[in-house]
Amino acid sequence: MSDTPERPVTKMRGAPRIIRLFDIDVYVHWSWLVVGVLLIQSRSDEYANVLWNIFEYASLFLIVLLHEFGHALACRSVGGVAERIMLWPLGGVAYVRPPQRPGATLWAIAAGPLVNVALLPVTIGFAFAVRTAAPHSNLEHYAVSIAFINAIVLVFNVLPIYPLDGGQILRAVLWFFIGPHKSLTIATAIGLFGAGGCLLLAFNFGDFWLMALAGFGALSSWSGLRVARARAAAAQLPRHGHVVCPECREPPPVGRCWPCSQCRAPFDAFAQTGTCPRCGHVEETGGCPFCGGRIPIPAGTVGFTAIAISSEIADAPDTL
Ligand SMILES: [Zn+2]
Ligand SMILES: [Zn+2]
Ligand SMILES: [Zn+2]
Repeated sequence: MSDTPERPVTKMRGAPRIIRLFDIDVYVHWSWLVVGVLLIQSRSDEYANVLWNIFEYASLFLIVLLHEFGHALACRSVGGVAERIMLWPLGGVAYVRPPQRPGATLWAIAAGPLVNVALLPVTIGFAFAVRTAAPHSNLEHYAVSIAFINAIVLVFNVLPIYPLDGGQILRAVLWFFIGPHKSLTIATAIGLFGAGGCLLLAFNFGDFWLMALAGFGALSSWSGLRVARARAAAAQLPRHGHVVCPECREPPPVGRCWPCSQCRAPFDAFAQTGTCPRCGHVEETGGCPFCGGRIPIPAGTVGFTAIAISSEIADAPDTL
């Protein structure tokens, strides 16, 4: 399909890759199939033939997939990285890394729900057309439920509950006014409250799907809140003057913030040319505490242990 060398496929546990489209790998988690079978069985009296149920579930799959491709392609259009999409029963996940700017982030997140907005006239128009052409048929039932599914995916995703798209859109909008850390703090705090409210509702209705989703939302918001607090704390530290993160343009803080990838001892990778003072291992990059990107460590800047700078520089795994 392309003449550039093939990007290697990342293995995802429990999720075989089914296709690569626009250089984006699509994975489907095995539980998607299990839930599909359960859902199709529970709705088997909706249609005269179970094939319609399968068709309906496949269409849900397609709608979610289009939504995720919206995120991925928008992210790429602003210079970000998007290589993987995963589908699982609670929905899809597009693994995107937009450039660390509020506008780019906002576009990459908003493009997902915008796909469903674009599908509204298509699905609703189809439902109305079929209703007149073939009333009370399986096709009519299918067309109406697809229009509903698309609308529900849209409404649900724009709820301002982090990490749903709505919560991330809220974060990106706040970012314009109060910066990356405070906006993340506020969005994740609202997400935590929202997830708590959803959990109460879910218990009230005995809805397991909503419980799982609210639990997932609460966990994501909680870890997002911790990340935001850690970033805000790192922002208070003095900074190195000789290097900036290529993604967010922030200089790394001064301090023993980077664990050695060999011996795990924390050290200041940017004060010591990436050489661990304990074991002598040399790191090529250090994780950015502000955006999670990788910052190349300049060789021979302020080094006091000038050992082993030469040949054995290995690919430093993620340390931060
Ligand atoms: Zn989305
Ligand atoms: Zn950064
Ligand atoms: Zn070490």
